[in-house]
Amino acid sequence: MNYIRGMERDKSYRQILKWGDKREAEVDHHMVALIKEKFGLTDADFSEKYLPGTEEVKLEKPSLLKPAQAEFLKSVSGGENVLTDDFHRAQYSCGKFYGELLDLRLNQVPDPPDAVVSPRSHDEVVKIVGFCNDERIAIIPVGGQSSVTGALRAPHGGIALDLTEHINRILKINSVNKTVTVQAGMYGPALEEELNRHGYTCGHFPQSFEYSTVGGWISARGAGQASTGYGKIEDMVVALTAVTPAGVIETRDFPRTAQGWDLFRLFAGAEGTLGVITGVTLHIFNHAPQNTTLAAFIFRSFEQAVETMRRMIQSEYGRPHLFRISDPEETDIAFRTSGFDGTFADRVLKRLGFKTGSRCLMFVTVEGEKDYAGFVMGKIKKSARAGKGMYIGAGPVRKWLAQRYSSAYLRDPLMDLGIMSDTLETAVTWENLLKVWRAAHEYVRRRPKAFMMIHISHVYENGANLYFTFLTPMEKGNERKDFLQFHSGLVDTIVEHGGSISHHHGVGRVLAPWMEGHLGRNSMELMKAVKRHLDPNNIMNPGGMLGLL
Ligand SMILES: Cc1cc2nc3c(=O)[nH]c(=O)nc-3n(C[C@H](O)[C@H](O)[C@H](O)COP(=O)(O)OP(=O)(O)OC[C@H]3O[C@@H](n4cnc5c(N)ncnc54)[C@H](O)[C@@H]3O)c2cc1C
Repeated sequence: MNYIRGMERDKSYRQILKWGDKREAEVDHHMVALIKEKFGLTDADFSEKYLPGTEEVKLEKPSLLKPAQAEFLKSVSGGENVLTDDFHRAQYSCGKFYGELLDLRLNQVPDPPDAVVSPRSHDEVVKIVGFCNDERIAIIPVGGQSSVTGALRAPHGGIALDLTEHINRILKINSVNKTVTVQAGMYGPALEEELNRHGYTCGHFPQSFEYSTVGGWISARGAGQASTGYGKIEDMVVALTAVTPAGVIETRDFPRTAQGWDLFRLFAGAEGTLGVITGVTLHIFNHAPQNTTLAAFIFRSFEQAVETMRRMIQSEYGRPHLFRISDPEETDIAFRTSGFDGTFADRVLKRLGFKTGSRCLMFVTVEGEKDYAGFVMGKIKKSARAGKGMYIGAGPVRKWLAQRYSSAYLRDPLMDLGIMSDTLETAVTWENLLKVWRAAHEYVRRRPKAFMMIHISHVYENGANLYFTFLTPMEKGNERKDFLQFHSGLVDTIVEHGGSISHHHGVGRVLAPWMEGHLGRNSMELMKAVKRHLDPNNIMNPGGMLGLL
């Protein structure tokens, strides 16, 4: 069930924009001090919440669903599962892209759907997709709405098809094949809890885990924090069922085949443009957290840490699961905001040459069978020593894991302080990684009062991802244009220096303009041909998605 459902007594824009349902986080005093210092701000700048979005939602665009169409949808899924009021249409009109949050704070909902429909079964999805295809009504499949790429907007109206209300159960845990078959609208925590009860884990833990779904993970081609060990979500999919305007596609759970293409892969990364995924079979893994080994290392420079990481992953002695490097900027922020800066231990590190402004943290876990976890961690420690890294215990990794999900709540209070804060990410080969890292920092340094942290968090034999988090004061009165210009310049910089458009957030409407230039015309034509076959009337998530029609 969508987490905002049931909380609608507060029908404000803020209710929609804020992350999660638990609490409103506050920026702690270390962070506030840092922001003041970096951006030359004072307490007076924070005297009241900036663009708080506390007004009640009111839409300018009326629902264009015809009464007969609404009646049909109600006859399929029940009146209570078809919503056309302003608040719900606004709630389902977006994800958590910074530009969307800004719109909400400015009391704008540019692309609302005409209705929100929550089908109760796969069969109802089949009926709805067939009807919408005949009536040329757009469908936007909706999971946890944690998209950060503008993938849920409805520029052509239509219906937001919410999978989370009812299509959200485990259908089968198969201990012989070691798989789980799960409905697409199931949220991460419910899936993981049930798997743990049976001695398994799903292995996929994005930072948005609390509020994202299996269908969304696959559709956006996501990666969890331990993807270096468990794989990206597309590595875990064994089979799926999708309802397209051209009919139902159901792939089978063979381990591997040579029967032409693996068609389930078409839907990994399709972002709802080909059809609605209703069910998925995933690999699962043994759940044995007691075996997990953890280690943090510190290096004197990013270059040294990256080179050591590359050697570790290419050594073939086994794979870590969580595998991260924070660059000097991110490391310094971590030290400052945790209160470590200036302590006795900090002074010792500095004396040993691990200096502020160049030192970097590396975090590693190895999970799985006890001997394996011990063996691989032993090798990792040896490699870290060879790379001139110093082991600093397991504590920093434990601390990081403990705040992993809660740090996602910080963006809202930062925006309340008038601070623009967004993230981008890319995949890059080892030979280009430092080039992209340097170019991105140089780009951000050109903006007065801007600050960026970068980390590596998903690691492969031939390269890794880079993850960028930038902070800068909003340009008041020109917030949206300023953000879009700055953001698009950063994407250009990443792509020009050898990075991909995305490694795991997906493309959506935000990155769609880069697709053709990046993939090439023929590749785009091929993708469009697949779309035309499965969705000849272009009803599935239309309007610029993935650079398609
Ligand atoms: C704070 C925060 C942290 C994040 N951290 C990570 C991270 O660590 N790793 C990561 O990979 N991503 C991360 N993301 C991005 C986002 O959480 C992922 O893209 C996630 O996989 C989206 O899942 P969802 O269920 O929320 O999908 P939604 O946001 O609802 O939808 C995403 C896309 O998938 C389509 N879709 C959803 N369900 C279906 C379905 N059943 N059938 C067909 N299409 C469907 C939608 O139409 C849309 O195009 C983060 C986002 C936030 C806000």
